[in-house]
Amino acid sequence: MEQFYSFPLKMHVGGPDTPIVKEGQRIKRGECIAEPKGLGAKIHSSVSGNVVKITDSAIVIKPDDKQSEEYVKIKKCDSIADTVYEAGVVGAGGAGFPTHIKLKTKLSNGYIIANCVECEPVLHHNIGRIEKKPEEIIKGIRYAMSSTGAKKAYIAIKSKHLEAIKVLKNCLKNDNSIQIKELPDMYPMGEERAIIHAIFDRWLEPTQLPADADCVVLNAETLFNITMAVEYGKPVIDKDITVIGKLKSGIEPNVFFQVPVGTSIKSLIEKCGGIDGEYGELIIGGPYTGTSQDIDTAIVTKTSGGAIVTIPFPEYKGPIGLLVCACGANEARLRDVASKMNSQVVGVTKCKNVEEIKGANKCKTPGHCPGQAQAIMYLKKQGAKRVLISNCSDCSNTVMCCAPKMGLPVYHHTDHVFRTVNYPLTRRLPMEHES
Ligand code: SF4
Repeated sequence: MEQFYSFPLKMHVGGPDTPIVKEGQRIKRGECIAEPKGLGAKIHSSVSGNVVKITDSAIVIKPDDKQSEEYVKIKKCDSIADTVYEAGVVGAGGAGFPTHIKLKTKLSNGYIIANCVECEPVLHHNIGRIEKKPEEIIKGIRYAMSSTGAKKAYIAIKSKHLEAIKVLKNCLKNDNSIQIKELPDMYPMGEERAIIHAIFDRWLEPTQLPADADCVVLNAETLFNITMAVEYGKPVIDKDITVIGKLKSGIEPNVFFQVPVGTSIKSLIEKCGGIDGEYGELIIGGPYTGTSQDIDTAIVTKTSGGAIVTIPFPEYKGPIGLLVCACGANEARLRDVASKMNSQVVGVTKCKNVEEIKGANKCKTPGHCPGQAQAIMYLKKQGAKRVLISNCSDCSNTVMCCAPKMGLPVYHHTDHVFRTVNYPLTRRLPMEHES
């Protein structure tokens, strides 16, 4: 067993939870250990053991030597939304929005959208989950339809996932209320407003929510967790995760299903043979939106999708300009990458599709480029000799149409990830006849 399991008090949108246990208390797997004060989600222990420490940000549990798969079931509730609240279900795709709130939306003429896009390249656990247990995802969609009153649902999935589409179709048989919508393999195809645009040919404003289009969007693993809560009384104590990168086991993805929340990422990397020599960084999440974390302290949370160990960064000691996207790395992350490349930042600008709403960058039309020549010209004027961008597939394509012509070589903040695993870099989109 691991020495300690750590449960952050904030694994969701909202404020940190309040612990309802005390130091020294014995805990069973599945027991609730913290509750939200307002917006938030309950937190349950994924192990049996003793609470050894409670801080402002986490509850630390020393696990018993022997663990069981059994867990304390959540209390029975009258509604699906209340059941999901008791189970502490949050958006497992990374956002962490409390799911019970989405399930209280009334959608008499609306739609449930199952987000099975697995938008971030190199992550494989969502598609793996669908291929392994498609019926649990479909049941989750039906529970969500029942809770919201939606009469119809769509499953949004990239057309390249042939096996997952096949097993979903087999499960759906003659159920015409749930339809599969195949999407192209571009970033950020899984962004909620991009999915709604792909299905209904309608752009929501950056300030609008899917509910404004009569939709509730739920990630594949979130739907699985809804089914687990409703049918088995299981709280969210385990998480699917992809571990990939510069590992001794090779560059193929390692998909771990149902890893106890609180597990150290280091222990998962060790299960893959450990890191293969010198590395650049550990990214938790996907290559586009993940965060760089310390390998010694990173843990599995309710929202961790991936653990990526990268090759070292390239070095460029000259002046660099940053072009920020709303759906990829933000300015802070681009500055972090630039500093790891030993570059000197001389200018920063945003894609002109970015709108700042309540302190966060939002894109007007995710994945549809508004043109980048102006931004690149601005960075050149600031003295940049190269540019580092975090744009979507379409906008990176546009940058490649103008930056090299202006004499500016281009880096994308995902380059070191894709080089690690031999994926194509985010640059020019293939022409139709090449794809
Ligand atoms: S259009 Fe601009 S802001 Fe929107 S996803 Fe593409 S690069 Fe990002």
